[in-house]
Amino acid sequence: MNEPSPTSATMLLVDDDPSIIQAASRLLSDFGRCRFARSAADALRLLRQEPVDLVLLDAEMPEMGGLEMLALMQKSSDLAEIPVVLLTSHRDEATEEAAFAAGAVDYLSKPIRPGVLKARVSTQLRLRRALAEVRRLSRTDSLTGLANRRAMQEQLEREVLRADRQRTATSVLMIDVDHFKAFNDFYGHSGGDYALIKVADCLRKAASRANDVCARWGGEEFVVLIPDTDRQGAMTVAEHLHQALAELAHPHEASPLGRLTVSIGVATLAPLNAEGTGERALGSVQDRLEDLLGRADAALYEAKSAGRSRSACAKA
Ligand code: GH3
Ligand code: MG
Ligand code: MG
Ligand code: MG
Repeated sequence: MNEPSPTSATMLLVDDDPSIIQAASRLLSDFGRCRFARSAADALRLLRQEPVDLVLLDAEMPEMGGLEMLALMQKSSDLAEIPVVLLTSHRDEATEEAAFAAGAVDYLSKPIRPGVLKARVSTQLRLRRALAEVRRLSRTDSLTGLANRRAMQEQLEREVLRADRQRTATSVLMIDVDHFKAFNDFYGHSGGDYALIKVADCLRKAASRANDVCARWGGEEFVVLIPDTDRQGAMTVAEHLHQALAELAHPHEASPLGRLTVSIGVATLAPLNAEGTGERALGSVQDRLEDLLGRADAALYEAKSAGRSRSACAKA
């Protein structure tokens, strides 16, 4: 399989010798943009300012050498995953082993051989892009393009911790498509799939703030996470979703409601009080999430029983 060459990468070249930086940046210009640093301290500063896809790092520099800088990068959760190719004038095996032990992904000896440098950097950039794509796919629902259940679960855990720190409320919507078995029976499974894509579009429209997250929870169930939002705000988002579906007006002839509708259960985690205690401080993050989703689910059941195409709010 022939992948396109990674022309959009950002690379950081670190060497105290400007002629090496010049030569390397010329050779790597096809792969993307190069940033430069003449010392490890400058390089670390740059890395904190701008994400990069690869670091080409000189082992021998005054003050802090490449291996030492690499060790610092490995200790930082933000920097540890950036691939580092070590560049050194030593050709001995001990240096090579030390480079890999410190966390380098590859090792090149000076003088630079153009073909070798380009091939090695190209390989690392391809790997990085492939890994990013695998990560993205592992968190995405392939039918709707929304976050999948795993991604939502992680996001929910992060959000509970954030809400605890910032003493804000957090709400979730648990959404289930009404009479969807009958929809599939009437329009066929591919008609059903198409309808789920349309429901996902409505979700994106209704929960459109930057931090809102919409996920396909399974089958024809969806979850929306609405950070920083109390139950009243969450009910408003739920109302927007009903409105978006009303505007969509996707026919559902097998439903007594005549069009595609959903039922929604709304649940809110109350913020911690000023002392950081209160009901939400009880139990682990997992327990509180389970409780939150359980309450949303119970509210959803209520909305179904009350006639569908509506929302119900969980008890606090
Ligand atoms: P209710 O109003 O009570 O929710 O009725 P319902 O028929 O929707 O009941 P339920 O939620 O139990 O039915 C889920 C149905 O959704 C079962 C299955 O046929 C259908 N379904 C689940 N996942 C998919 C999917 O990925 N594609 C399609 N086309 N249908 C799905
Ligand atoms: Mg040097
Ligand atoms: Mg269901
Ligand atoms: Mg259903």
